[in-house]
Amino acid sequence: MSETMHDTMCLVGGCTQPVYAPAGTRALCKEHFLDFVKWRKKKGGLALFRKYSAMTMQERDPLVDEWAKTVLVHPR
Ligand SMILES: [Zn+2]
Repeated sequence: MSETMHDTMCLVGGCTQPVYAPAGTRALCKEHFLDFVKWRKKKGGLALFRKYSAMTMQERDPLVDEWAKTVLVHPR
């Protein structure tokens, strides 16, 4: 079990979907996680993919924040 409960909601502000996968020290819902992966591929391709894999969760946070600024939450 995780020692914290911060990962029960998608990190994108206003998003209320259940979490699907971790992104840095936080977590994303499926839709936003897939969007984040797509963004990483577009931004840095395989090089960034490998770099991201080698990063610690804390090191991933700034990259997640950079992506999160590009995200628009669609009202449901
Ligand atoms: Zn979300």
